[in-house]
Amino acid sequence: METEHQEETGFSIEARLRALEKAVAELTAALAPDLLVSRIALPVATSILKGAAQHKPAAQFFTMLDTGETLIKYSAALAFALVSQRGGDERQAVFDMFSVSPSLGTIASGLRKSISGPGSNEWPLSVMRDVFQRANGKPTATARYLLDEFIALRNSDRGHGVYLADGYYEDLFLRNSTQVQDCVGASAHILLTLVRVEDMKGAGAKYAYNATKLMGSTPTLFQQPLISSSTLTVGGTYLWHQPEHFLSVEPFVTYRYCTVCRQEHIFFAERITANTISYHSPVSNHRIDVARVPP
Ligand SMILES: [Zn+2]
Repeated sequence: METEHQEETGFSIEARLRALEKAVAELTAALAPDLLVSRIALPVATSILKGAAQHKPAAQFFTMLDTGETLIKYSAALAFALVSQRGGDERQAVFDMFSVSPSLGTIASGLRKSISGPGSNEWPLSVMRDVFQRANGKPTATARYLLDEFIALRNSDRGHGVYLADGYYEDLFLRNSTQVQDCVGASAHILLTLVRVEDMKGAGAKYAYNATKLMGSTPTLFQQPLISSSTLTVGGTYLWHQPEHFLSVEPFVTYRYCTVCRQEHIFFAERITANTISYHSPVSNHRIDVARVPP
């Protein structure tokens, strides 16, 4: 659903249908939030669930900001993973961006550049390009809202250190939550399968990998090993293009052990230097530093 159609009054069949769809989605979310996010990649799914559990306006507003921010960072991570795999100047530009902790605006412009750059026909950028760019090259409603309006809202209302009245947040939440939900709904790339490789066995000319499926709110082990002729890193996080193509999404997004809470969860790269990757988790707000293995 695109935002430019939203000012219609509620009399058309289309508008009624949208209202009905929204009501059903809200009802489903209230009854079974886990089910609602089961097809969505873990980083975004976790953030949506955290938001669904909030009832106070300020908490609803700030978890909505987390969801939008996670959606931008996850989208960018997939794009940067592909771009940096190509090597050369494109890879260098991405790593240069992360040599100082990039702002959300910088990450969003990196994402835009990847989508309009050469090779955007390649999976998974081909999936993302349709989310953010129209056939005529102009941004979609999702790109206009998420990569501009949303970032402006988040930059002005996060971290100014002053807690304003509940009514203020309630108003902002009501004016933005549908648009954030629409952006999540339009993001076909968050339905692509994210996995973590647990171990590897030889299987003739191919390898058999036991893997964890990082979709929905709870990571689950695949019952059967995933077969591929590619050599994957045990412990690595990948986007899986069935049947046997894998794209490493590290170090931009990773599912790994956290030394702060001693559990495994998703992290996004915040800063990448020659020797160290600094990771941050938007959901738990935990930070860890990991030694970087030179490429
Ligand atoms: Zn943690």
